[in-house]
Amino acid sequence: MVLNKPSIYVTRKIPKIGLELLSSHCDITVHEGAEPPDHKKILSNIQGKDGLLCMLTDKIDAEIMNASRKLKVISSFSVGVDHIDISQATKMGIYVTHTPGVLTNATADLAFALMISAARRIPEGDENIRNNNWKGGWSPDMLLGEGVYGKTLGIIGLGRIGSALAERASGFKMKILYNNRKRSRSKEKKLNAEYRSLEDLLKESDFISLHVPLTVETHHLIDNQKLKKMKRNAILVNTSRGQIVDENDLVDTLEEGLISGAGIDVFSSEPLPRDSRISKLKNVVLTPHIGSATHHTRNLMSEISVRNLLKVLKGENPFYLFNPEVMKVKSLSSIKMF
Ligand code: NAP
Repeated sequence: MVLNKPSIYVTRKIPKIGLELLSSHCDITVHEGAEPPDHKKILSNIQGKDGLLCMLTDKIDAEIMNASRKLKVISSFSVGVDHIDISQATKMGIYVTHTPGVLTNATADLAFALMISAARRIPEGDENIRNNNWKGGWSPDMLLGEGVYGKTLGIIGLGRIGSALAERASGFKMKILYNNRKRSRSKEKKLNAEYRSLEDLLKESDFISLHVPLTVETHHLIDNQKLKKMKRNAILVNTSRGQIVDENDLVDTLEEGLISGAGIDVFSSEPLPRDSRISKLKNVVLTPHIGSATHHTRNLMSEISVRNLLKVLKGENPFYLFNPEVMKVKSLSSIKMF
């Protein structure tokens, strides 16, 4: 029996498959703007809400969690949850859910695309043609780049997306090296991958792709000191989170020609400021945080983020709970709203 419909704040207009499902069970307030709501706006809209469906662009801190005494669940439309103060949520008995798995293939596709684009200088070629700078037709030394087939790929963070990238690279007969905190013999066997210390991986790889979550431990994991260990012809790909790389150190390294190039989807500040140094470089390929941006994936993220939220409010186990310790603080049965 529903006494009061749960009240939910959704911080962006997500694909309608999720919004229709959510509105059939709950009263919803959706932020309609083309830009994310700022902190103040989230603070005023969260008041009196039972649930929050948020994006990676929303910083969900203690102040926001304390603004609604009724808040039971924060469902993120993302796999990464670095924008949410998880320990605070757990302490307050708030369930935090996310959408792992459904964006794995889309993000791995983009990482591979960035690798090839940076290696073969595809955007530079495209720009030359559009700017009428393609003079003299075919030329023996025009836009020479690096090959990909048969090269060595170092994957930092061989989880869901890192493993999907390794599967793609095996078709290109690449040698796969990886670094995780825990070595996994079963993954090594399945993906034909070899474990390396971070330092050895940096020294041996032609391509290095980052797939670790952003945590205190991985913040600026790649800095000047690590970049200096990479090969001169190496290419760095980052589809994980911008703050994992010290962006100033990366730009210095690329300017000095100490590595060959980079393919970057995520930045320390998003959107990239107009005067950002990285966007002035020729030897980088940049995309605006579009790792999961396929129609199919975003529909799945919409549906799963809503189903996660509804499950918690029904007092049932959500599909993907990020903070299972919360169950010791507040039971699902005490949350049950319908
Ligand atoms: P995942 O399955 O949890 O994989 C993360 C991997 O990183 C795990 O294998 C983990 O293994 C490893 N790891 C964690 N800390 C590490 C450390 N300090 N050093 C070395 N390895 C470490 O996550 P996923 O689904 O692949 O997603 C990865 C990240 O991609 C997300 O957190 C998100 O930030 C990002 N992402 C970006 C986009 C985009 O649009 N660009 C889209 C989706 C995801 P151990 O625990 O053994 O260390």
